[in-house]
Amino acid sequence: MDRSRLYRRFRTLLIANRGEIACRVIRTARAMGLRTVAVFSEADRGAMHVAEADEAVLLGPARARDSYLNIERVVESARRSGAEAIHPGYGFLSENAEFAQACADAGLVFVGPTADMMVAMGSKSGSKALMEKAGVPLVPGYHGEAQDEATLAKAADRIGFPVLVKASAGGGGRGMRVVGSGAELAPAIVSAKREAKAAFGDDRMLIEKYVQNPRHIEVQVIGDSHGNLLSLFERECTLQRRHQKVIEEAPSPTLSLRQREAVCAAARKAALAVNYVGAGTIEFVSDGNDVFFIEMNTRLQVEHPVTELITGTDLVEWQLRVAFGEKLPLTQDQITLNGHAIEARVYAENPQKNFMPSVGRIKTWRTPEAVDGLRIDAGYREGDTVSPYYDAMLAKVIAWAPTRQGAIDRLNRALEETDIRGVVTNVPFLSALVTHPDVRANAIDTGFIERNLNSLTDVSGAPGDLELGAAVAAILGEEQKTSQADVHSPWQTFGWMPVGCRQRLFSFRQGSGAELKVALRYGNGPATLSVGERQFGFAFSPAGDGGFEVTLDGTKSRIVAVIEGHELYLRTRNGRFDLRWVDPFGAGDEEQAGEDRIVAPLPGTVVALLAEEGATLEKGTPILTLEVMKMEQTLRAPFAGVLKKIKCRVGDIVQEGVELAEVEPAAA
Ligand code: ADP
Ligand code: ADP
Ligand code: MG
Repeated sequence: MDRSRLYRRFRTLLIANRGEIACRVIRTARAMGLRTVAVFSEADRGAMHVAEADEAVLLGPARARDSYLNIERVVESARRSGAEAIHPGYGFLSENAEFAQACADAGLVFVGPTADMMVAMGSKSGSKALMEKAGVPLVPGYHGEAQDEATLAKAADRIGFPVLVKASAGGGGRGMRVVGSGAELAPAIVSAKREAKAAFGDDRMLIEKYVQNPRHIEVQVIGDSHGNLLSLFERECTLQRRHQKVIEEAPSPTLSLRQREAVCAAARKAALAVNYVGAGTIEFVSDGNDVFFIEMNTRLQVEHPVTELITGTDLVEWQLRVAFGEKLPLTQDQITLNGHAIEARVYAENPQKNFMPSVGRIKTWRTPEAVDGLRIDAGYREGDTVSPYYDAMLAKVIAWAPTRQGAIDRLNRALEETDIRGVVTNVPFLSALVTHPDVRANAIDTGFIERNLNSLTDVSGAPGDLELGAAVAAILGEEQKTSQADVHSPWQTFGWMPVGCRQRLFSFRQGSGAELKVALRYGNGPATLSVGERQFGFAFSPAGDGGFEVTLDGTKSRIVAVIEGHELYLRTRNGRFDLRWVDPFGAGDEEQAGEDRIVAPLPGTVVALLAEEGATLEKGTPILTLEVMKMEQTLRAPFAGVLKKIKCRVGDIVQEGVELAEVEPAAA
């Protein structure tokens, strides 16, 4: 095969992917002076990767198979946009040999291996047969052609239980079952086959010895079209859930120097067996002593940044140089290992609801600044929508430090400073995970998360005084912000009131817990906050970007407090808290139900009357608007009825507790 035709210089690159990996590839391609073309589905018109590319082409409807998985459309988009090369990212078509071939046939450079190499390595069975020949250590198992029940059962018996039944075409942990005994084998095969057929259109199975206390170790390799092949050390990805990686680090804290050299040599041997070109990963499972080959991924991997951070390389740049037909820029002994890196995958999912994906609009997106030793690879921004069509990974947070402990600390700090609102995310779960003493001590195996699920997902304690103070600050801060008033008005400044001292009551609820009541007293002296019997001097000032300095009895504390409607999201030194503001103004709040008098819950000015005496009211019909602390608040009918009497006029300044209107309930 003439490789100079497959790998040659190009100026325009199409990225056949979405989300963070598309953004990641665009970043390097642009830095190398390439023109970038994004592709997108109808659901992704406003997506970040579309905004970041120089050009973007619509592929088709939202469903992946009509867009990102549609080979013809992707190749056609390259032609239409003048792209000469395609980077497939990971997932989607990245390991699809038919796609690699279609690119080659259309005269496009495919940034990756050739279709032949993918075919050789794409099936777990096929690659294991190849590795066996090359003398790479394998997990004992059966990876033959015959798929009849008797053959598989005999193989499992011979291997010895527990065994792992795996889809040969598998990926992403699907089509995989751990089987403890002979009796469980047949039903496990049936269900794994069903899953594999649906996911990969191929239900062939292989059987492996289930390695006890398994750890996942993998080696990054990259080859060029001149026969050079390098390994860039290993990663450990033992923290998994359902065979899917959650946290990844490099180097492995488990391997000795001798083991590291052995596993890297085995990986190079594996890749050389197919004269591999491009970036790839050789995956192994380890029992803590020996490592056994399980599969090769013929693409860039989600966790490639940890390797970049410990080797000081840019793997996407190397991929593109290899695709240009260049030689790899370094030799094996020029690749050195420096420090430790760890990555966490941020997903829109709810760990408390069995990791159910969460979709919706991202209302807040705040990640810490990328400083030395901290990298954030994101695919979403504030205002973006997480749709139900694709993988729910939002971003990766990656930390580097000279030591593993340092890297963990930095990662945890960065997770603590990450606020994403509007969708539920796994960020608190990730924090709990990386700070777990067993994770710090590397006393883990791939079952660690499953065994510790309860303690890892139950992360929110009861709110204390600081959190209640933070909640009050969030509400007052929001009221000041949304105020339409002249910014020079003294009303703007919290704590200053024209007359006397006022009291305002707040009530909060965490989940279905009891109501937590806080009284704020303010006027022309310093404000105080009372929680039950306790009283504190209280002050706060906005510190930008959702942050506040809250002072309770002279102790100043930095907090993050975001309010969305009645939902309060707080982050203090004690962790994260979600509270609901039981707002006396709010429509449909339990507080108002049954109350037939419309009362001023706070001192304010009547600014509008919205219903007339005698009017028929539905529950929630607006009656009048009060301006309180420069924020308009509409008082509504607590139930269906008739507006019997209005007891105020526009412009009235009313005191707390004053009756403003009377509603007569509709006859039952
Ligand atoms: P690794 O790359 O570490 O082996 P995975 O197998 O989980 O880890 O990574 C590939 C998988 O990531 C894909 O099969 C897909 O389900 C998921 N994925 C996450 N983000 C994306 C994305 N933007 N595009 C496509 N697939 C994605
Ligand atoms: P996928 O294509 O879904 O990534 P893999 O073969 O890489 O499938 O397996 C996924 C994960 O399952 C691995 O990362 C490893 O943790 C675990 N695993 C795979 N094979 C074995 C085995 N034989 N024994 C124990 N665990 C295994
Ligand atoms: Mg794998």
